[in-house]
Amino acid sequence: MTDYRNFIGGEWLESSSCTTVENLNPANINDRLGTIKLSTREEARGAVEAAYNAFRDWRNTPAPTRGKIVARFARLLEDDKENLAQILTREEGKTLAESRGELARSINVAEFCAGEARRLNGETIQSELPANFAYTIKEPHGVVALITPWNFPVAIPVWKIAPALVAGNTVVFKPAEATPATAVRICELLEEAGLPKGVLNLVLGSGAEIGDEITNHPAVKAISFTGSTATGIKLYEQAARRGARVQCEMGGKNPVVVMEDCDLDLAVQSTAQGAFGSTGQRCTATSRAVVVDEIADEFVSKIVELAQKMRIGDGANPETEMGPIVDEKQFRNVLKYIDIGREDGAEMLCGGKRAEGDNLENGFFVEPTVFDRVSPDMRIAQEEIFGPVLSVLRVKDFDEAMCAANDSQYGLTSSIFTNDPNLIFRFVQQIETGMTHINSPTTGGEAHIPFGGVKMTGIGAREQGSTALDFYTELKVVYVDYTGRRREGNLY
Ligand code: NDP
Repeated sequence: MTDYRNFIGGEWLESSSCTTVENLNPANINDRLGTIKLSTREEARGAVEAAYNAFRDWRNTPAPTRGKIVARFARLLEDDKENLAQILTREEGKTLAESRGELARSINVAEFCAGEARRLNGETIQSELPANFAYTIKEPHGVVALITPWNFPVAIPVWKIAPALVAGNTVVFKPAEATPATAVRICELLEEAGLPKGVLNLVLGSGAEIGDEITNHPAVKAISFTGSTATGIKLYEQAARRGARVQCEMGGKNPVVVMEDCDLDLAVQSTAQGAFGSTGQRCTATSRAVVVDEIADEFVSKIVELAQKMRIGDGANPETEMGPIVDEKQFRNVLKYIDIGREDGAEMLCGGKRAEGDNLENGFFVEPTVFDRVSPDMRIAQEEIFGPVLSVLRVKDFDEAMCAANDSQYGLTSSIFTNDPNLIFRFVQQIETGMTHINSPTTGGEAHIPFGGVKMTGIGAREQGSTALDFYTELKVVYVDYTGRRREGNLY
């Protein structure tokens, strides 16, 4: 059992708060990892001040030197991979294979960002005047706040912290209450990598309290948030009032479109992987299958067969294919949506309740659930459930499929299963999502490829890949006149 501490100004400090929350293994709530104290607003302000005080020296540290520290962090993460994967599974519930995958992605992101430190280039621009030119410089904002959810508690913090640091910002990191152990370990590794004191600060506690305090602090110049749309939009409104930069990656309701000419087994396996992998708790999870009538019966019977065969259990058991829901609140929310689906008249084909069996009684396990004949106006077709629940919408043809797929406030990711190149390109043109996949699941991404969504899913620059540093830098334009004379033309 650990008492998690804040990391402020380079010191591991115990919070003075008397309000505590237990960090429980969602596969077995009798397994307690530790206790967090929900930090006070004053402690959150202390973290911002520490970041503010560290900014000047950090911004003046050459970018390649900053990158070397991030590269060292990547190597430490590699050395600690198995340990962190075990903590992640025990804390969040995903299977060990999924945790190892998350660690691999995090290492790739850190390596990629470390390399970007040597490419923090501006451009030189020709002037319309003789003996003049202009150039641009990328500069850090100052203190940035990074607010993260519980579902990818290693990868998401790493894909925010690494580019923020490389760009020369100092950081206040507020992870989800549900996943303090992984957050603490990431900070320990960054400390070991040689980050100067105050450059990275961790505050543990409630979003409504310290998250609110940090995002509204005048010294915080930019906020990168991943989480629910409701929280993200609120935070965006607050930050806009004081002109702070905001990047939000929020909810999703990702569709797959399944056409009659596709490889049906591939479509079924990929949809199941997208819907039930990570227990459906991915922002990129497949939650709607839009299937043409001609093959819908066969599609649903095959996907139900796969759903019913899934081995549910503790993610630490190598046999397990699907772990628990992260906590009781989320568990109740998923069951609530299953009830809503039934009440709204969708046809539930499998699952629909708490999973029972050996060693499942003390965890938040839900059976993989498939609803058929879901209509686009039903709540289970519109609202994010964030659990292993798939809604099948039957449509007559491609045009109707596109209407159904785009009938959503969200726009993160999507995919199509077809072998018709014309349909593929029409789909790519018409689909309203920030990312899309052809003949593969809606999930997945690579460290060097931009990630993010449109509509109510995404605000601001894309994370990761070539665009990772865009959010964390401001562009300064410099005009150089080497005529040595008073300017005569171009007086506007
Ligand atoms: P929440 O929005 O509830 O929380 C996200 C983070 O925001 C947590 O750290 C939370 O703290 C904090 N927070 C809550 N209220 C405030 C506030 N008023 N001010 C500042 N911070 C606050 O989301 P979940 O943690 O439940 O994560 C699940 C959501 O994340 C899903 O909707 C999912 O789609 C989305 N997500 C999106 C991704 C994307 O890239 N598009 C990727 C992964 C997840 P606390 O834990 O204390 O509540």
